[in-house]
Amino acid sequence: MSVKDTIILDPSDLKFLLIDSLNQYTNNTYFIDGKNPYRFSINKKKYYILIKNIHESGEGRGNQDECRIQVAKSRNFNPALSEHSNVIVLGYFHDERVFTAWNPFMMRERFNLRDTISLYSRFSIQRDAAENGISNYVDNNNQSIVSFKPQYLGLYLENYESVHLLNQEDLKNLIEKSDEFNSEDSFNELNYNNNKITITHTRYRRDPRFRLSVYNAYNHKCAMCGIQLELIEAAHIVPHSDERGTDEVNNGMCLCRLHHGAYDNSLIFVDEKYNIKINEQKINYLIKIGKDSGLHHLNKISFKKLNLPENPVHQPDINNIKIANNLRGIDNISNS
Ligand SMILES: [Zn+2]
Repeated sequence: MSVKDTIILDPSDLKFLLIDSLNQYTNNTYFIDGKNPYRFSINKKKYYILIKNIHESGEGRGNQDECRIQVAKSRNFNPALSEHSNVIVLGYFHDERVFTAWNPFMMRERFNLRDTISLYSRFSIQRDAAENGISNYVDNNNQSIVSFKPQYLGLYLENYESVHLLNQEDLKNLIEKSDEFNSEDSFNELNYNNNKITITHTRYRRDPRFRLSVYNAYNHKCAMCGIQLELIEAAHIVPHSDERGTDEVNNGMCLCRLHHGAYDNSLIFVDEKYNIKINEQKINYLIKIGKDSGLHHLNKISFKKLNLPENPVHQPDINNIKIANNLRGIDNISNS
């Protein structure tokens, strides 16, 4: 494992990684605020998440398989501490594309004793998680440290109080169940040796009236590129996962599938003057992970400004646009 091969993602990259990963588990999720720890809403519950790149544990280590993250308590922890909330601490290893999680209760005890702590795991466990979806490493203190693929981040968060108590076999069974239920709106309760687990996948059904009203307001054309070709969809500006996300036409935009995906993934956004903007932070992240191909094409087909409905009542509410940009983790709109 050489250092030069390892891609190091910076905190804003990791924020988008979290948003993308959580969406694979449930649509009922959004970014609230904070800077590492970040605060997210997932299935209506709030979580503080601290995320760091995981790396080898330094020169002179006895065990080549050992990896770690170091966490220093900073002012950014204050909101979580003042609410007595646990901070979920995650390591991310880009080479294998897996998260590693330590028991937050154990973390809290250690943070009471010192301001900087090192948390260890094993490269081999991460490799196993990349192959099999999930894996755990039990350390000398009998703590289970769990590694898993990004699509199980939501599952982990929803159950972090129990997941560290499950054995390898139960963990594998758990992700199989999660996959089984993931295609639609579902809620399931499982029990592993008295450890309760819930699996909540929220997949929003589109309101047919909302869809038709949006199509008509925009003349059945994508507001960002003008495409019709029956490739259009009615996108929510403020998503359903937020209670402010209504089915009013002024909370919608008619977008083609490409632009709808780009909008929901925070790749493209609309500023308060209806200008269509590419999110540079997200682009930087995609370049780093080698997923930026096609950017030129997307730029070329996108209008500079949103094509608005003629009826002012149907045009996107600026307040909705502000809320949506906030929820999608876009924090550079003010300099537009
Ligand atoms: Zn389009």
